[in-house]
Amino acid sequence: MRISGARVTRPDVLRGVSSADFARRLVGRTVAGVARRAKTICVHLDDGQALLTTPRFTGALLFDVPADAYTCLSLSLAEGHELGYRDVRRLGTVTLVDHEGYRRFDARLGVEPLGESFTGEVLSGILRGVSTPIKKVLMEQRRIAGIGNIYANEALWLAGIDPSRRGSSLTAAESGVLAGQLREVLSAAVSARGTTFRDYRDASGGQGGFAAQLQCYGRGGLPCPRCGRRLTETHAIDGRSTVFCHQCQR
Ligand SMILES: [Zn+2]
Repeated sequence: MRISGARVTRPDVLRGVSSADFARRLVGRTVAGVARRAKTICVHLDDGQALLTTPRFTGALLFDVPADAYTCLSLSLAEGHELGYRDVRRLGTVTLVDHEGYRRFDARLGVEPLGESFTGEVLSGILRGVSTPIKKVLMEQRRIAGIGNIYANEALWLAGIDPSRRGSSLTAAESGVLAGQLREVLSAAVSARGTTFRDYRDASGGQGGFAAQLQCYGRGGLPCPRCGRRLTETHAIDGRSTVFCHQCQR
């Protein structure tokens, strides 16, 4: 699809490119493909450039959804289609990189947990010699890409692993179970179109349905769905909310 126009209404979401350059570099180009890498949506263009959108908490890349007060920028595409970036709190970012810039972006990121090459053995290799708490390791994008706080919490609860354990302390069997649960949680979240607490929206502007499937995250103080003991919430591991069960996560 050819890009016939580009409008930036909230330039503070742009990184490393001015509004004028943004439009100048995009108009006339054709979208060659759209992919996800880690937590970033990559719109690849015919000349090797890539439009990188990282929506974070309240941003969304929307296809054919009418613009509103929260729309930060929009692209006019062939046949009257529109691609817009909307962000309520504007914590997300949009950047435009050339081929070399994309290569550098990609090289900084670790393995994709939904990729075919992600196995328990690969996870074991990543954890070897790592003294960081396992929950923190899961969220380090340079080691494993694309796992956010909600999904790290859920996978560790499902795998029965204490989030504060050192990465290197996991056995091969535990790494296998955890790798499997990460894939399960992420696949289920993708199928449910993500997790909406407040402002998150999917590409059609709808809410994600995964919040209803959460068993651990956001349930601090409530009974563990597996053993009934009260779930504990702490911010001591990485400054983010960690919820876990003292009884069934070891
Ligand atoms: Zn429990």
